[in-house]
Amino acid sequence: MTNSSDHDVVIIGAGPAGLACAYEAVQQGVRPLVLEKDDRVGGIARTETLGECRFDRGPHRFFTKEPEIQAVWESLLSEDFLVRARLTRIYYGQRFFDYPLRLLPTLRKLGLGTSLAIVASYLRAQISRNPSPDNFEQWVVNRFGRRLYEMFFRSYTEKVWGVPCTQISADWAAQRIKDLSLLEILRNALPGARRQHTSLIEEFHYPRRGASMMWEAMTQAVEAGGGEVRLDSPVEHLEHSAGRITALQVAQERLPLERADVVSSAPLRDLILSLSPGSPQDVLAAARALRYRAILIVGLVIPVADLFPDNWIYVHSPQVRVGRIQNSKNFSPQLVPNPALSCLALEYYSWQGDEVWSMADEALITLAGNELHELGLLADEQVIAGKVIRIPHAYPVYDPGYQDRVRIIREYLAGFANLQVIGRAGMHRYNNMDHSMLTGIQATRNLVCESHDLWLINIEQEYLEQDRSE
Ligand SMILES: Cc1cc2nc3c(=O)[nH]c(=O)nc-3n(C[C@H](O)[C@H](O)[C@H](O)COP(=O)(O)OP(=O)(O)OC[C@H]3O[C@@H](n4cnc5c(N)ncnc54)[C@H](O)[C@@H]3O)c2cc1C
Repeated sequence: MTNSSDHDVVIIGAGPAGLACAYEAVQQGVRPLVLEKDDRVGGIARTETLGECRFDRGPHRFFTKEPEIQAVWESLLSEDFLVRARLTRIYYGQRFFDYPLRLLPTLRKLGLGTSLAIVASYLRAQISRNPSPDNFEQWVVNRFGRRLYEMFFRSYTEKVWGVPCTQISADWAAQRIKDLSLLEILRNALPGARRQHTSLIEEFHYPRRGASMMWEAMTQAVEAGGGEVRLDSPVEHLEHSAGRITALQVAQERLPLERADVVSSAPLRDLILSLSPGSPQDVLAAARALRYRAILIVGLVIPVADLFPDNWIYVHSPQVRVGRIQNSKNFSPQLVPNPALSCLALEYYSWQGDEVWSMADEALITLAGNELHELGLLADEQVIAGKVIRIPHAYPVYDPGYQDRVRIIREYLAGFANLQVIGRAGMHRYNNMDHSMLTGIQATRNLVCESHDLWLINIEQEYLEQDRSE
């Protein structure tokens, strides 16, 4: 193993956050070493292969309001960074509805009776408005009324989180839905409406050969700049003394750090549990109580040229387990080279170790095929190939009390002079790719005498780069 004196910063994880941290490091003349436990870069935002076809680990839209991130993306991929039209719909009650909901077509599909019931339910919610909603259900009912909540929010949200909406913090709704409400949908339906809520964005960028193309290009840039990205290198322990990380245990090898800094994008819980000597009891308890929702992605190849035109579909129907279905070729035709085929990726949400998580791959592939038939998306056609990907830390859970736990951990980590945490699971924050990257970039700048509070990234009230598409 190379001695860490060859490097100024050791970065744990080669997902978007860790790679952006390394990419910025080589621009700044800081020598990075990235340690990635998997055999490929890209983390959650990478692309999987299934025969000749490719699919992402959940649909990854490249969209940002951070000009700096957009510039990095464009410079890395130039003409391979496609602009794609967005089409996504909600499947509910055997019908497709536009997503984001468009007022008139939705009401037309629902019929007069249901439409009036929606309006009445909205008005009722305004009269008995909860002034300080503390869970997802109360927050959404305030904004949309109970009827719309039941139809278009509850089932999907409960599939994603695996708990009743009353147990999901209102913070999550506030972060993901922000100021969208029935009134704003109405305003957007009016002729000449100017203000476009960011949930209503209709275009996004996407790398020609899948999201991984971005992370592979970034890795090449890091290596070309003198950095190193080491795969199959899980960081298992971080030794510390006198407020500094002094060595890393990487699989069977020990890497003394000498003067190097450490930036971690490993899940915050794992980081705390791998510190040696162990952390104080309250910090350990806080870390152990952090939870992550897992996803299983079932990729399927189907011998049909055009299944549906959407990039992805939200499945709100409670009778099936699948929550979302992405259609790879609608992200980029190059993901499915044979035009007679389609490649779908179905998302199943679970807790690590639960019944769905533990199902055999073959059973999951059968389940996914059956559910496509049940939804009417497949007629007699059969699945010709399938692959299951398990992602244990897909969603940091915002359950009651998580903020206190994160605060306890932050305060403890602030005592380390050479350790920063970045990214999504790394900060237990619902960061998308752009914000994950920004935390990495600013972590590097903190090493060259700038001073950024990484915890301030992605908390602005005005900004929403992503809707409930996750
Ligand atoms: C279903 C889904 C859909 C999404 N869609 C979008 C979207 O449309 N647009 C968008 O912008 N964002 C989207 N996101 C969010 C995006 O995936 C994340 O923001 C991004 O992947 C986070 O990057 P990261 O580097 O922080 O973490 P990760 O991607 O999780 O990468 C962390 C890396 O660290 C490695 N690692 C962990 N522990 C260790 C260890 N001990 N030693 C060594 N390596 C370790 C992991 O193997 C991994 O490679 C989506 C997320 C999900 C789950």
